Amino acid sequence: MDEAHGLPSYLDAKDLGPWAVYLEQVERVAPHLGGLERWIETLRRPKRALIVDVPIALDDGRVAHFEGYRVQHNTSRGPGKGGVRFHPGVTLSEVMALAAWMSVKNAAVNLPFGGAKGGVRVDPRRLSRGELERLTRRYASEIAILIGPAKDIPAPDVNTDAQVMAWMMDTYSMHEGATVTGVVTGKPVALGGSLGRREATGRGVFVLARAAAGRIGLDLPGAGVAIQGLGNVGGVAAQLFAAAGCRVVAVQDHGGCVHRAAGLDVAALRAHVAAQGSVQGFPGGEAVARDAFWSVPCDVLVPAALEQQIGAGNAGAIRARMVVEGANGPTTPEADDILRARGVLLVPDVIANAGGVTVSYFEWVQDFSSYFWTEAEINARLERILLDAFDAIWALAAERRLDLRTAAFVVACTRILEARALRGLYP
Ligand code: NAD
Repeated sequence: MDEAHGLPSYLDAKDLGPWAVYLEQVERVAPHLGGLERWIETLRRPKRALIVDVPIALDDGRVAHFEGYRVQHNTSRGPGKGGVRFHPGVTLSEVMALAAWMSVKNAAVNLPFGGAKGGVRVDPRRLSRGELERLTRRYASEIAILIGPAKDIPAPDVNTDAQVMAWMMDTYSMHEGATVTGVVTGKPVALGGSLGRREATGRGVFVLARAAAGRIGLDLPGAGVAIQGLGNVGGVAAQLFAAAGCRVVAVQDHGGCVHRAAGLDVAALRAHVAAQGSVQGFPGGEAVARDAFWSVPCDVLVPAALEQQIGAGNAGAIRARMVVEGANGPTTPEADDILRARGVLLVPDVIANAGGVTVSYFEWVQDFSSYFWTEAEINARLERILLDAFDAIWALAAERRLDLRTAAFVVACTRILEARALRGLYP
């Protein structure tokens, strides 16, 4: 570590990306931690970071090498937990930030997990199904020294799904010589997955948007909603907003942006994306420029794609009454300040998208006990956990005059550092 900058030596100060955003969020929580501030350095560095080479045979006989990562940010409160991302933009510092946000998220909703994340620097759209399976299996083999049901439990994230989790589970099980369903969550239901897991993150976004709307006197029926990203998170959230009578007025994804003030037909739009790969060319709305998305008049804005989408350059243009973060880290600290000054309520990622890991927790518990719950039970328990966490964070924010992100970090970091202090240092 470089003591002067507090930066790990393996990171370039000019290229910190989301990790710099996370560090600034830690700065903001520091004055609110009381005596636990003594332990704050724990939050500023990952516990472990593994970089792996992932060589695979391509269908044409060539060998391609990809770079993979698994980072455990903190395991003071339990095993590492966090998704695996396949994306050409994945870097070590991005995975570090995503792992750190998992530590905060799991503590914010009081799940008995630490935080971890993984990724491979690859564009999976350019791989055949066979190549994707080989990539997944080799990556799982390479990180098998770190993962396990009691050590670190991966799950889906951007461009990974239940099938990818099935391959990871099978690879790990082959190493162990026994079927170990609890090593990953977000698996197919036929393989020890949980009902409701695939929809859980989007459902959580909707449940918390509804709770936050209630706090600011916004009626959801008729409200306008704009969503960036129509994948697992944004797609399910869009459907639930539409079912609640909202108008989904704009959707942007990697391919384009569509707008319809009266509300897009979400089912038709999702079918278009399933067939064409993107919202681009959807006949039921007008195409608009990518940048125009941010200034579309709406009540609720849901970023559900990637990090650092709302920054100093576009936060001033946002015309929503609230931003509900489906993605991890979509808003920079400068944008947080701009939105707050303009009276836009922000429901932060660490609670807004915690529905996915909450049902992952249920899946892990069900796998351990080999006893599976109904979807109604799962959704009821999910809502209870998210709404209790939201109420506690809202109350703390009101009491200490904090924004919801800082309040969520205070709740979460207090839990993490209390555990750290109780455990003490080894040896
Ligand atoms: P996904 O791969 O299913 O969907 C990603 C979406 O983002 C797609 O619609 C894609 O077109 C869009 N996108 C990608 N690049 C974009 C760009 N440059 N501009 C606009 N749109 C772009 O991924 P997902 O699982 O829905 O994850 C989305 C976000 O939610 C990520 O930040 C992820 O970390 C976070 N998240 C996911 C889960 C989960 O359970 N899947 C849980 C918590 C948080």
